[in-house]
Amino acid sequence: MTTTFFGAIADDFTGATDLAAMLARAGVPVTLRIGLPEAAAATTATAFEVIALKIRTTPPEEAVAEARTACRWLRERGARRLFWKYCSTFDSTPRGNIGPVADALMSEMGLDRTVHCPAFPENGRRVFMGNLFVGDRPLHESPMKDHPLTPMRDANLERLLAPQVQRQTGLVPFPTVRQGAETVRDALERLSGHVVLDAVEDADLATLAEAIHDMPLVCGGSAIAQPLPALWRAAGAMGATDDSPLPEAGSGQIVLSGSCSAMTRAQVGRYLDHAVGYRLDPLELAEGGFGDARAWLRAQDPAARKIIYATAEPKAVAAVQEKLGVGRAGALVEDALAQLAQDARGLGIRRIVVAGGETSGAVTRALDVDRLRIGPEIAPGVPWCFAGDGLALALKSGNFGAETFFDDAFAMLDAGTAAPAA
Ligand code: ADP
Repeated sequence: MTTTFFGAIADDFTGATDLAAMLARAGVPVTLRIGLPEAAAATTATAFEVIALKIRTTPPEEAVAEARTACRWLRERGARRLFWKYCSTFDSTPRGNIGPVADALMSEMGLDRTVHCPAFPENGRRVFMGNLFVGDRPLHESPMKDHPLTPMRDANLERLLAPQVQRQTGLVPFPTVRQGAETVRDALERLSGHVVLDAVEDADLATLAEAIHDMPLVCGGSAIAQPLPALWRAAGAMGATDDSPLPEAGSGQIVLSGSCSAMTRAQVGRYLDHAVGYRLDPLELAEGGFGDARAWLRAQDPAARKIIYATAEPKAVAAVQEKLGVGRAGALVEDALAQLAQDARGLGIRRIVVAGGETSGAVTRALDVDRLRIGPEIAPGVPWCFAGDGLALALKSGNFGAETFFDDAFAMLDAGTAAPAA
């Protein structure tokens, strides 16, 4: 039986998927769990476990309690490297939850030092002299300054952490990072508490990964995780991973789209050139339910290319929202797509692509999926996920993927390229 080597606790679902995709890219088998896993030891664990919680903006006490439970679950299964995954824009308030959870995990693991590395240069998130930049702007001048739940009003990570944590903060600055892994290690030896790591380019992340790969707890964005598996393997730390093949995807296919983001609109338009489609209209849903959509779905060949979508232009969305309210319009569409996903499974359809972050959450819940094995990426950050029973899910948030994403996704399964990247 495989014991867990690496365990991550992510503060939201898409963050967890992002990290899981990064690790899968590094060629290790990864399981993503949605919500706190059952305490029952009967659940088998894999070498790389990522637990998706929803604790980014919950009260800190709740976030800490859930993270501690997840931490214990992972350590009981043997995890020797833990990762606290938060957003690369450091989404938090003066109360938390980045700091309180990091503090709690340190206490849980008996540590007096951890590192914080949110840098994700590929996505324009860079840390220089402790200050986080988004593109060419410091964090507090980026659009994150107006975030409805976690407005970021400072770019200095030590200052942001200080009110959130009980331990002291420190920094390994850029000039030290540029001197190489040995120098970073020496600098870390002299620091305790929460140490912020500068990184401007991927090469800096490689240096940092070399310096910190044997630390029991790393906190940060997903980018620092990608170089770690190769280092663990080289150091002989990792042991055997369970390279059992990914479950086979069953047959039958459908796209369900509840995203109105610009890229999804282009993807839906492109797909409709050669797929059959059914458009969900929230006003009709409000009046008459989605019986017609269900009947349409039943009449289709399970194997045919097809899409059910509520995707609409901003003007149409605004008009609907004005009539129904934002919340009700969203809920009507999400409920309909969730039920249609259940119908599709009942009709034998096993390959399901979902567009929309919230929509993906609604569909996964409706399908009662609590555990996903991560396959290779269709597009950066969007892997095929295997839920057992032949069910394969691709969960795409709004602006991800190329215009041909839906075809790309199914083509990958058809070609059998969704084999583990071992
Ligand atoms: P994204 O990842 O693009 O943000 P989400 O699924 O997270 O997509 O969010 C889109 C939201 O918009 C969902 O709540 C969905 O139900 C709602 N929605 C989808 N289509 C429409 C529409 N035509 N009118 C109003 N709301 C819609």
